[in-house]
Amino acid sequence: MKPRAFTYIRPATITEAVDALSHYGERARVLAGGQSLMAMMNFRLVEVDALIDISRLAELSRIRVTDGALEVGAAVTQNQLLLSPELKSHVPLLAEMLPWVGHFQTRNRGTVCGSIAHADPSSEIPLALALLGGCVVLQSKRGTRTLSADQFQTGILSTARAPDEMIVAARFPANGKSGHAFRETSRRHGDFAIVGIAALKTGANTLRLGFGGVSSRPFISTLEGGNAKAVTDEIEKLVWQFDGYEDMHATSRMRRDLVRRMAPALIEEAFA
Ligand SMILES: Cc1cc2nc3c(=O)[nH]c(=O)nc-3n(C[C@H](O)[C@H](O)[C@H](O)COP(=O)(O)OP(=O)(O)OC[C@H]3O[C@@H](n4cnc5c(N)ncnc54)[C@H](O)[C@@H]3O)c2cc1C
Repeated sequence: MKPRAFTYIRPATITEAVDALSHYGERARVLAGGQSLMAMMNFRLVEVDALIDISRLAELSRIRVTDGALEVGAAVTQNQLLLSPELKSHVPLLAEMLPWVGHFQTRNRGTVCGSIAHADPSSEIPLALALLGGCVVLQSKRGTRTLSADQFQTGILSTARAPDEMIVAARFPANGKSGHAFRETSRRHGDFAIVGIAALKTGANTLRLGFGGVSSRPFISTLEGGNAKAVTDEIEKLVWQFDGYEDMHATSRMRRDLVRRMAPALIEEAFA
């Protein structure tokens, strides 16, 4: 299939990009790496009058450490972030999760913020942002606002972004000194996760846990450490709080079972 005809716009500045977004509104989409958008357009799941290509905007290509967070501009690709020295030292949890996002080739084009904007419930990057308590910076002609990951992703492929807004950056709070762990089950390496679980040590005996692929958006919870029986009991309570998300790859029951099997070792690793 081919997409229907559309106008291709390559703005030279963020101002030009938000002007175009303001003009076209819902009839336009931002094009970042195109790794999700082009497929959806080819299948005509998405039809637009205009594509606003931000992939070469120098203003959006920055990675910087600011206020205890790693700020990633909207044109930064997943591989560029993986290669940045700041990632490992400031957000090692994300450094561990990024290689699970697609393949080397898709990461060369796919952007960090594009994955957050796309808001797939199984995606690793939105899961990391939610678990770390990060946020998204949105800009439009009307101004700039910052939304927490929790406020931003509202459901399956759905976000609080207004039609005239674009993401200009995502901020991942540094977790350099905290224990963490990540596990994922997918059909093949490079596929979206059926279940992804990330853990962050927040105290001597407490963890923040993030689950992807089990609810329509990342599911975040806290867990007190304890003996194996107590941890198993806690996990059993958690899996019944998921909202029953399922798709052609796995039922919600299978996803709950995967969590029961994957979580204990992951929790042990994060505490260690
Ligand atoms: C073979 C393959 C395997 C993959 N496997 C995985 C995987 O395992 N895990 C995973 O998480 N992803 C996976 N992906 C998806 C990949 O991570 C995409 O790169 C990502 O979902 C979208 O990023 P992008 O930059 O390509 O965005 P695009 O495809 O360009 O855009 C996606 C959506 O986000 C919007 N958007 C993008 N940037 C902005 C912005 N700055 N402001 C507002 N809206 C914006 C677009 O308008 C569009 O609606 C895979 C893709 C492929 C092709």
